[in-house]
Amino acid sequence: MIPVNEPLLNGNEKKYLSECIDSGWISSEGPFVKQLEETFANVVGRKFGIAVANGSVALDAALEAIGISEGDEVILPTFTIISCAAPIVRAGAIPVVVDADPYTWNMCVDQIEQKITSRTKAILAVHIYGLPVDMDPILGLAAKYRLKVIEDAAEVIGQTYKGRPCGSFGDISTFSFYPNKHITTGEGGMIVTNNEQIANKCRELRNLSFIPPRRFIHEELGWNFRMTNLQAALGVAQLERLDEFIHIKRKVGNMYSELLADIKSLQLPLAKTDYAENIYWVYGVVLKDEVGFDAIEAMKLLSEKGIGSRPFFYPMHLQPIFKKKNLFSGEQYPVSERIAERGFYLPSGLALTENQIVEVANTVKSIFS
Ligand SMILES: *Cc1c(COP(=O)(O)O)cnc(C)c1O
Repeated sequence: MIPVNEPLLNGNEKKYLSECIDSGWISSEGPFVKQLEETFANVVGRKFGIAVANGSVALDAALEAIGISEGDEVILPTFTIISCAAPIVRAGAIPVVVDADPYTWNMCVDQIEQKITSRTKAILAVHIYGLPVDMDPILGLAAKYRLKVIEDAAEVIGQTYKGRPCGSFGDISTFSFYPNKHITTGEGGMIVTNNEQIANKCRELRNLSFIPPRRFIHEELGWNFRMTNLQAALGVAQLERLDEFIHIKRKVGNMYSELLADIKSLQLPLAKTDYAENIYWVYGVVLKDEVGFDAIEAMKLLSEKGIGSRPFFYPMHLQPIFKKKNLFSGEQYPVSERIAERGFYLPSGLALTENQIVEVANTVKSIFS
């Protein structure tokens, strides 16, 4: 079986992990955590980095830190992971969604303004599958209506938008270091910001809101979202190779695009937009209308031939949990609905070999030609 993702862990990972074990520093108090926070913030062009347990809780803390609360509306793409909408709902705020662009699969920025009301507090911009969302219109609207901007950059570690690092836009940005992301800590995440007050708030929130001078007396409710030194040790080793990893991802993506170019019934990812070159977090494909079956069927056929794959995201406005909460009732977003049904991604991990890519491409061809 060719797995849908396998990470590359053959740099300094073992060495730094051994240092943790030899020194006894395994908790979040260890030195690799600070080192990862500082180097990562530097790489994405931010002043402060706050390491957390994963990319989902990074969003919980980020939203609370910038003041999203009961009754606020937050605009986000419907085509994304539940991690984006869940913290909005948990905060008692209201997720307001827009459809996706049929080619970049990112949120349709020209649908945002019509969704802004007097209760709108923030826009949550999410970069999807390796191409950044068009940030300038979002930042323009945020300035015009005095909105906060949260940037979920989990899928674009090492990517740039018009030459500026993804993760450097808006009030606060979040990342995930899950093993299928461009760098991994097993489980892990990062919040970055230039605002010292927001950074301090995030640090408090991730650490049960312990505050000096007297431990165990609390003015606020936080969480334990801390990252361990073991995770951070992996992260420091992985970050050393970010440029190389981006290069590998682009090579994988370009190779697939060349090998699959002749299959007329498949929509392939864009190699680039006006503002970025794809870094192919995953290599997604969408079945064109002439194909008489959907992504689930295609993935079954691939699996029977030993190829792992995953379906595209399932839109937020169709989620059963949100229907139960009377959110999005009667709303339709045709592009997201279509790509959720007809989109899936091929093995895209960093450990993929050229032979495996050729095998995947030949199998895909045998199914679609
Ligand atoms: C992976 C991902 C997350 C969640 O990260 P975890 O570390 O898995 O919790 C959040 N947002 C986006 C866009 C992601 O791709």
